[in-house]
Amino acid sequence: MKLILLGAPGAGKGTVAKMLTALDGSVQISTGDILRGAVQAGTDLGKEAKGYMDRGDLVPDSLIMGIMEKRLQEPDCAKGFLLDGFPRTIPQAEALKVLLNKLNIKLDMVVSIDVPREVILDRLTTRRTCENAKCQAIYNVKSNPPKKEGICDKCGSPVVQRADETVEAISHRLETYNQKTAPLIGFYEKEGMLHSITGTSSDAVVNGIKAHLKI
Ligand code: AMP
Repeated sequence: MKLILLGAPGAGKGTVAKMLTALDGSVQISTGDILRGAVQAGTDLGKEAKGYMDRGDLVPDSLIMGIMEKRLQEPDCAKGFLLDGFPRTIPQAEALKVLLNKLNIKLDMVVSIDVPREVILDRLTTRRTCENAKCQAIYNVKSNPPKKEGICDKCGSPVVQRADETVEAISHRLETYNQKTAPLIGFYEKEGMLHSITGTSSDAVVNGIKAHLKI
């Protein structure tokens, strides 16, 4: 399947994407994960992106489009992909449309995951992430803590609170989402590609997507 997952930070895009990859071998492409990997590896991209990310600002569109143009042409995308955290602005959505036409790729649909703001705030402040860039497993101190406190179940690396998941950075990320990313809902509605799902349970969202795609 070839999907865009839209939704505020903490709406569950990453969890839903991981569940969908298990269905048909489609790959999850998270621009946030790619950027955090670059920051940890200390690459030029990471150095350029870090300041924006720590403040909860968006990284410039040109950097993101460079990443995506390469990533979508990697062989593992042939089976399908789930775009998680991209596009985030109207110019990114427009550039993606041109890129997909050039690569002769047709999207199945754009899913907007709608979750109430209180749920999002609670999820993000209690979320913890494995700091190993190759793992980045997600935990939650309340609902899904690692078996051993502070240690990733999967790879044994420290599990930490992301620099952009302090209360101030989260409020700023949500403001950025409302200003820059929420308009994509109207953009894809006009394109006739939007399917909105309201739900706080990832299982319900995945079932909604499966029903819509008839799989
Ligand atoms: P995420 O893990 O998707 O919440 O992304 C973490 C941070 O990475 C965001 O707050 C942005 O600074 C940056 N980022 C991720 N994806 C994008 C994108 N498509 N456009 C611009 N910045 C992005």
